[in-house]
Amino acid sequence: MKPHKDEGSTPAGVPHLQEVGYTVTYEDVLVTAEYLKQLKAEIKAADVRAKYGLFRTSLFYGNLRRWQRQGWHCEYESGPGTTHCTCGLVLNENGTADQELAVVISKNVQQKLDGIELEQIHLVRGHNSLPSLKGETVALIIDFIYKEDIIEYLWTAICQQCGDYEVEVKNADAKSFVKTHNRICGPVIFNKKGE
Ligand SMILES: [Zn+2]
Ligand SMILES: [Zn+2]
Repeated sequence: MKPHKDEGSTPAGVPHLQEVGYTVTYEDVLVTAEYLKQLKAEIKAADVRAKYGLFRTSLFYGNLRRWQRQGWHCEYESGPGTTHCTCGLVLNENGTADQELAVVISKNVQQKLDGIELEQIHLVRGHNSLPSLKGETVALIIDFIYKEDIIEYLWTAICQQCGDYEVEVKNADAKSFVKTHNRICGPVIFNKKGE
């Protein structure tokens, strides 16, 4: 028996990345409307020099909050060896032993998603649901384009469990894709974790 060196395969068929030391941690990325309001008030009251910094801060958190509400998982910040998703998931290149090992989507799912442009963070499992930031999601909205002819943003969503995807759909449709796949494909992994 080789419980851990099983040619990169967990019960869900998900290869681990332990060889390269990638780990996953989580950070608090909750941006409340109250906080944004407070920032706006501070900008109003601040002197010219402080205004600029506060304005950048409010833009940063304003964007983050909007993307979370749109359900969009993307790399919104990166540091030395870390990549931060809008949902609070942090991928650490040189993680420590006490951290959760990063798990990526299976080869099979990667093949099904061939042709869809994925950021590295989209390959990693264990994202928090958006916009609630509570619980894990197996499906992610990963990209959008602006369609000038219909004056609308259209979104791409993927399922990390079954490899299904939708391209250039309205935000509400992308969100319902996510909901559906969490219902159908979610239990496969969530039950395993005893939830
Ligand atoms: Zn995420
Ligand atoms: Zn699915």
